[in-house]
Amino acid sequence: MSLAKKQDQTVAVPNDLEAFWMPFTPNRSFKAKPRLISRSQDMHYYTPEGRAIIDGSAALWCVNAGHNRKPIVEAIQKSAAELDYAPAFQFAHPMSFELASRIADLAPKTMDHVFFTNSGSEAVDTALKVAIAYHHAKGQDSRTRLIGRERGYHGVGFGGISVGGMVANRRFFGAMLPGVDHLSHTYNREHQQFTKGEPEWGAHLADDLEKIVALHDAATIAAVIVEPMSGSTGVLPPPKGYLQRLRQICDKYGILLIFDEVITGFGRLGAAFAAERYGVTPDIMTFAKGVTSGSVPMGGIVVRDEIYNAFMNGPEHMPEIFHGYTYSAHPLACAAGLATLNVYRDEDLFNRAKKLEPYWADAVMSLKDEPGVLDIRQVGLTVGIDLASKPDAFGKRGYEAMGHGFHEEGIMLRGMADTLAMSPPLIVTEAQIDEMVDKTRRVIKAVM
Ligand code: PMP
Repeated sequence: MSLAKKQDQTVAVPNDLEAFWMPFTPNRSFKAKPRLISRSQDMHYYTPEGRAIIDGSAALWCVNAGHNRKPIVEAIQKSAAELDYAPAFQFAHPMSFELASRIADLAPKTMDHVFFTNSGSEAVDTALKVAIAYHHAKGQDSRTRLIGRERGYHGVGFGGISVGGMVANRRFFGAMLPGVDHLSHTYNREHQQFTKGEPEWGAHLADDLEKIVALHDAATIAAVIVEPMSGSTGVLPPPKGYLQRLRQICDKYGILLIFDEVITGFGRLGAAFAAERYGVTPDIMTFAKGVTSGSVPMGGIVVRDEIYNAFMNGPEHMPEIFHGYTYSAHPLACAAGLATLNVYRDEDLFNRAKKLEPYWADAVMSLKDEPGVLDIRQVGLTVGIDLASKPDAFGKRGYEAMGHGFHEEGIMLRGMADTLAMSPPLIVTEAQIDEMVDKTRRVIKAVM
């Protein structure tokens, strides 16, 4: 690949954009007008030309501590110099135990055991496998069925797309896992339009699980997996009482409840996890993204003591768990994770997000009268803004708005079909919230 230097002498701009097959991107239109990022600091990205882009989305919902925070950078550098890699099978390094207990301390009581993966998708597959194997360990072999939800996003593994409910992520990839059912999604514009926080309407939708039990029998069902707040499908906050009701039904039938907290973990909703915000303790929780503030890939699951103990005291023929990844608990990720949790603690960032929520909610709701805005959903430091589709091209508005935001306004937004989403780093100031909302207002006016 040949490289051309632009104004910023530290950064090389590639001439060849063809070799890299970009994920989740219309490659041809991106490459015709690329959005390149070469540097980041705190609330900003910088293009190779040195243009500042305010990060309105914590990149992919992950940079919760802000970019290139010094303690995190230094911890990664130190680990890279001292311990480049160590296996987590049959050997281990001290930071992996330390990080696991720090995460367990943030998780709800009785969730004290952590299994590490490298991504949210791996965390989801791990959670599903652990759920099925747990029932086997308890002598309930018939419990293998998995229940997801329409409009759910659980990453891109075959397990994740099977329990997930986004058609675009499923339709070209074959038959999916067998034995999967879906609850209805929880969004209803008529009853929920322009709601701040959790909508009043919709708790009864959890009763779908009762219908699935009636159809298949609880003795065939291993687990239900939901995002406490669905992010990638356009920010769908849970209706008031919905998660509690799901918990009750799971308890009634011995079904495990899995919260996919890949987005909601580490402060996004003004608490360590959504489980804390909603006062509902799942049996298994996934995490990724915010655990290292996006700096080094890492994910994992946190499980209830009862689940861990079932494996520790499992039947003789069953190994504790035959599952794991070469890079589980990678030293660089553990170093980054420990430093990130220190930043969250020292700067009280989860509480900061909680205190900022009313300001954020008012600011983003002020966009409701802009042309073409059909709905705005806000919860924690997130928002989803539905825009009217183009008459001839459903699902293109978000992508257009993302491009316009980057090139014309200097803001990173997330576009998902006709929805625009924002979820800033938790260090955002009120002035920066105003700036983001002003920029987004101009983006909406321009694309509508
Ligand atoms: N689960 C949820 C709820 C997510 O939002 C995501 C990513 N957006 C994933 C799983 C997958 O994570 P990853 O991209 O790290 O595999």
